[in-house]
Amino acid sequence: MEKMQKTGSFELLKEDRHTGARLGRLHLAHGVVDTPVFMPVGTQASVKALEPRDLTELGASIILGNTYHLLLRPGTEIIESLGGLHKFMSWDRPILTDSGGFQVFSLNNLNKIHEHGVEFSSHIDGARLFLGPREAMAVQRALGSDIAMVFDECMPYPCTEDYAVRSVRKTLKWAAECFEQPRAESQLFFGIVQGGEFSALREMCARELTAIGFDGYAVGGVSVGEPEDVMIRGVEDGLRFLPIEKPRYVMGLGDMYQMTESVARGADMFDCVIPTRVARHGTAYTRRGAYPVKGAAYKLDERPVEEGCTCYCCRNFSRAYIRHLLNVREISGVRLLTIHNMHRYLEFMREMREAIANDCFNEWRKECAAILRPNGLKSRAGES
Ligand SMILES: [Zn+2]
Repeated sequence: MEKMQKTGSFELLKEDRHTGARLGRLHLAHGVVDTPVFMPVGTQASVKALEPRDLTELGASIILGNTYHLLLRPGTEIIESLGGLHKFMSWDRPILTDSGGFQVFSLNNLNKIHEHGVEFSSHIDGARLFLGPREAMAVQRALGSDIAMVFDECMPYPCTEDYAVRSVRKTLKWAAECFEQPRAESQLFFGIVQGGEFSALREMCARELTAIGFDGYAVGGVSVGEPEDVMIRGVEDGLRFLPIEKPRYVMGLGDMYQMTESVARGADMFDCVIPTRVARHGTAYTRRGAYPVKGAAYKLDERPVEEGCTCYCCRNFSRAYIRHLLNVREISGVRLLTIHNMHRYLEFMREMREAIANDCFNEWRKECAAILRPNGLKSRAGES
């Protein structure tokens, strides 16, 4: 009989013999998450163009919610008084919430960094607001997410080493302050490794966060405009000194090649707006790469968006029809293409987990790289 796992525990089911890839199972208050996992992003308490029943059908096991956006609209008190984020959006599976730190730093030119947080202007109406460790944890507690993230500073790229050192010190101080705050029942709490492109800083940050003792760890400040090889090195540096028995999440990264390379270095969790955003721009992801469905070449194309795909969109509609819907801006065009793209993403992760389970992750990874990076791997770091 399978033994019952405690909520909050992470089972490390398998470690790949040739790479740092791992197979895991995360037991959360609202369900079980098999890793490596991709988390669809539900910025405004909704994964754009999809409903919770779509996500359930597509096999999404966990989604992400954005503290910053929900704090601004509709406001934390409203969601809390309506029973928390799960009930508000009618999603009964796990949710991870970010801390708002990334948006406060990236969406605001008018932010002022103080000792206990950041003063910023709402990007909607310009109202002056304040978010720090205490506030970010209070919002995530009120939302009732399964996993809360620390409030950190996401430093810009590029930045000087001096700036990076001061920034990491602040992130560590804020992490310790967040750790003191109360949490929602059974809510897990992840620390975030920062340090930019400076390996020694990433190491120092990872070691100090580990000493605090979080339930899991994330690598932040990657995919912020740096070249791909710098990004992959940042992921590697961020992951290297984290405890193996805890889940590891690479934030904001969702390019399939980059996710594969991160998994090869020991990453377990990802989130990104790519599959939904790209669908809104009329681009489909397939096993052979991405293509614009809006193209005139598909005007009379009776084939589905991707041949052999089992998603609702591909089982029922032709490329010609989806192209037409997109070109006349019918809502259903975006919706159907989002269903397809999300299916491809979640299927990609299922295939990745299967490859790890079947001891062929490295071969699978090379096949993927040949399709996703036909001009060769840009980074050879971490190859074995
Ligand atoms: Zn499809």
